[in-house]
Amino acid sequence: MASSAPSAAAGATPPDPLRRDRILSSKLYLDVPGSKAPVVYSPAYDIAFLGIEKLHPFDSSKWGRICKFLTKEGHLEKNRVVEPLEATKDDLLVVHSESYLNSLKSSLKVASIVELPPVAFIPNWLVQQKLLYPFRKQVGGSILSAKLALERGWAINVGGGFHHCSAEQGGGFCAYADISLCIQFAFVRLNISRVMIIDLDAHQGNGHEKDFANDGRVYTLDMYNAGIYPYDHVAKRYIDQKVELVSGTKTEDYLDQLDKALKVAESRFQPQLIVYNAGTDILDGDPLGRLKISPQGVVIRDEKVFRFAKDQSIPLLMLTSGGYMKSSARVIADSIINLSNKNLIELVSLTSSLIRSKLVCSASAYGDVGGGGATGGGGAVTAPPSTAFATASFSDVSSQTSPAYSNVNRVFKG
Ligand SMILES: [Zn+2]
Repeated sequence: MASSAPSAAAGATPPDPLRRDRILSSKLYLDVPGSKAPVVYSPAYDIAFLGIEKLHPFDSSKWGRICKFLTKEGHLEKNRVVEPLEATKDDLLVVHSESYLNSLKSSLKVASIVELPPVAFIPNWLVQQKLLYPFRKQVGGSILSAKLALERGWAINVGGGFHHCSAEQGGGFCAYADISLCIQFAFVRLNISRVMIIDLDAHQGNGHEKDFANDGRVYTLDMYNAGIYPYDHVAKRYIDQKVELVSGTKTEDYLDQLDKALKVAESRFQPQLIVYNAGTDILDGDPLGRLKISPQGVVIRDEKVFRFAKDQSIPLLMLTSGGYMKSSARVIADSIINLSNKNLIELVSLTSSLIRSKLVCSASAYGDVGGGGATGGGGAVTAPPSTAFATASFSDVSSQTSPAYSNVNRVFKG
């Protein structure tokens, strides 16, 4: 983890040659055309597992439902979503050991990681296909999102955020360390050396904390309920900035503590990339998170983090992480719509944006411009439809010298 000095990158150690070779020969960094939005998802993310998924207290089709809300309600065209590749064994070996990956060939082991005891009795080939394959697709999505974030200023993987898994140990429904992988890939392929993890899932992110212990290139801000799993006191020592909450923390208090934490983070570390782990198990009623944050509180939280990144022109990638109540997908979709309405991200294509503004103009000629806000069950969002392309884009305001940024500026400035 980073020291408190902004020059923490000085402590970086070069990756070992084998890791570097694996990263350089990986196919996960797809070339994504400008016609796509930096929103990453595959139908393969969703888990349908002989009904067994119903035994876990979660909505295993959360990821697909988020996308459905966005596409069906006209916020994102289906063909603008980026489909990632599955992380291969060689990709996973960038962080994981061969022995850890081999341990997943035991259904008993996987059952303990995903906390579904009946999985222990299912043939491993089926566990691989129905459970671990979706996870590996999501890992591929997290890794690709870092590249997209550098190119576009932001990216959202509608999945991932397996923050309890470290190189040698899975747990808490996390079988692969996608956050550690995505950062290791970024160090080598994106030529960056300072990454900030903002982990706002209700649980402590002990996986990435262990993986980047004493690594000065990574700064971690972790805000979590200290009274729930994983109680990892060893990993706690590696958190650069820890905000421990108590069960029952309410929205106003939560957002107040977040404001203060972001101010401190800004003064301590200047990252070239932010990995935002945006778990929604902070929602009031979540049986695992035990906090009392309203849907509107989640929307405001995400907006604060995106604004924090945008104000400093730092590329940000968001992972959806934990939070599997039936209401989670709606809240996440509402939050993404809010980010678009506030011009913090650009979901619509240039063509759609022009058509939309023409429609709004036509409607206004008939005096019908009210109620344009795109909001669902969260109910927090009342801004007008996105005018992202009419204003300076996230990338445009960047003063970064990265070649990726110049490319993006060229794309958006035509
Ligand atoms: Zn969690």
